[in-house]
Amino acid sequence: MRKEIELSVLPKEADDTALLRKRIASKLYLGLKSFQFRISRRSIDARKRPIKLQLRIAVFVEEDMPDLVPSHQYPDVRNADSAIVVGAGPAGLFAALRLIDRGIKPIVIERGKTVRDRRRDLAKLNREHEVNPDSNYCFGEGGAGTYSDGKLYTRSHKRGNIRDILETFVRHGAPEQILIDAHPHIGTNKLPKIIEEMRASILAAGGEVHFESRLIDIEVRQGQIVAVVLQGGRQLPCTNLILATGHSARDIFLLLHKKEILLEPKDFALGVRVEHPQSLIDRIQYRGDKCASLLPPAAYTLVNQSEYGAAYSFCMCPGGIIAPCATEPGEIVTNGWSPSKRNNPFANSGIVVSTSAKDWKKFADQGPLAGMRFQQEIEQNACQIAGGDQTAPAQRLVDYVGNRVSGALPECSYRPGTKSCDLREILPERIAKALQAGFEQFGRKMKGYLHENAIILATESRTSSPVRIPRDKQNLQHPQLLGLYPCGEGAGYAGGIVSAALDGQRVADALAAKLAKRT
Ligand SMILES: Cc1cc2nc3c(=O)[nH]c(=O)nc-3n(C[C@H](O)[C@H](O)[C@H](O)COP(=O)(O)OP(=O)(O)OC[C@H]3O[C@@H](n4cnc5c(N)ncnc54)[C@H](O)[C@@H]3O)c2cc1C
Repeated sequence: MRKEIELSVLPKEADDTALLRKRIASKLYLGLKSFQFRISRRSIDARKRPIKLQLRIAVFVEEDMPDLVPSHQYPDVRNADSAIVVGAGPAGLFAALRLIDRGIKPIVIERGKTVRDRRRDLAKLNREHEVNPDSNYCFGEGGAGTYSDGKLYTRSHKRGNIRDILETFVRHGAPEQILIDAHPHIGTNKLPKIIEEMRASILAAGGEVHFESRLIDIEVRQGQIVAVVLQGGRQLPCTNLILATGHSARDIFLLLHKKEILLEPKDFALGVRVEHPQSLIDRIQYRGDKCASLLPPAAYTLVNQSEYGAAYSFCMCPGGIIAPCATEPGEIVTNGWSPSKRNNPFANSGIVVSTSAKDWKKFADQGPLAGMRFQQEIEQNACQIAGGDQTAPAQRLVDYVGNRVSGALPECSYRPGTKSCDLREILPERIAKALQAGFEQFGRKMKGYLHENAIILATESRTSSPVRIPRDKQNLQHPQLLGLYPCGEGAGYAGGIVSAALDGQRVADALAAKLAKRT
């Protein structure tokens, strides 16, 4: 018999199995040795003092405790029908694994390098300001989420089986902890190995993965895809294409637009990345609780409505580093990553404001690419103002709020360096004002947030795709182009690692259903 109970415990009690056993026995009227148990959910309740951990515990009475993650065998698809998956981010990788489960051989095409070789290009980007347009924080094996915080939290509960995504990560080497924590994360140090293991599963089942193979064209005959063209001119016959190229593949949006394949503009958010000392965020959030040292580095979620629009926190990274995420030289893009322990001395977060067509009026003649052009112009302005390399324009938070240009800037984790600038010169006026109203309110909600050593960097602009590649609600194919399956964040159907992975699975299922009808 399996039972689930909830316990509220102090942080120091959470790992004391003898104490937990006693509490469970007394709650369920069981003998101390008559059951097995494990924690199935853990969350922090920091609303009141003392801070408590809320534990959900699975108790097994007179039955063996099953494995936390059931094993999974991928079938051999060496000689099966194939489909091409472009992009080896979470959407592409999970689509490939699901195709294998459905008996289809995936051929994965990736413009970037293997996750290991990608590291060298990231080092060059950080140290020498050299942006490789095919190998950077957004492009390469594992996609944009590889060198990230690896937060696996999503609200997309209706879009698929989140547990299955997390279990797949665990089978490929992620810590079991991600199945338990209410806000799970993996960390940059662990993600590359997991991605390599996922590639190994694809190859072992008979799938293919091709690196440094950028898609540059698609051949269309009578409204049906017939081939893809890779950089260097190599053509591959293709009637089913899962396009999972992410929100930064501007060349793909341009290619589709040039070929008059229907695209739609999509609202996206824009703003800055803010960084504080992590110790300050811990003090604010844990309010000097006696057990604070036993708790993980604190996170926050903030939102403020103002007449200029809502400003909200995005992709907060406790104990993290601000990363240079440009995909072309001549632009500045920020985002954040953290190691699994989140033990860097800084806490960073995007603070962003939604933009829509009225913000991109100037680019109206660009049709569905108007938002993308607007995004690109701001990233390029940020780069020019700060000197043209990967140095980021930055301002002390208190100076931004007080409408002053900063003198010396505080220490910051962004490795290519920062230059003091007036960020209002980069951001559109409405966005700048919404951010200012937001920061003022955040300072009231979190006493100490407007700290002398808090710094903001521009631009946080790749929050989601500025373009949607439409698809039919039922069969998930493009409404005009048979065989094209737009997928993941770049196509406008996801906003994070887990939702992209879920979308990869959905699209693979739709493609498999089509192939099954034909046989
Ligand atoms: C630094 C950073 C930190 C992040 N942190 C988190 C986080 O903690 N949690 C979270 O949920 N999300 C995070 N995100 C966002 C998350 O990474 C994305 O939402 C997710 O990766 C989207 O998955 P995707 O597969 O749709 O696209 P992507 O991950 O962008 O993958 C697209 C892939 O397609 C390839 N590609 C592009 N064009 C071509 C082409 N022409 N030919 C062949 N291949 C091509 C790219 O190289 C890339 O590998 C972070 C992003 C960044 C940049």
